[in-house]
Amino acid sequence: MLRCTGCANPALITIRMRIAGREIVFHRCARCESNTWEASEGDVLSLDEVLELARAAR
Ligand SMILES: [Zn+2]
Repeated sequence: MLRCTGCANPALITIRMRIAGREIVFHRCARCESNTWEASEGDVLSLDEVLELARAAR
């Protein structure tokens, strides 16, 4: 199971969205508020990469 990279909290809020035709999963920790972006293939994306995808979609 995916855990928060900051505090190892397993109870992450998960939001699925589609950016530039790619399925992106956004995980947010309710405890320490760290955010993780994950592609559907399981790759972890940096915020910069997500912004780059969003920019390319326009
Ligand atoms: Zn956390």
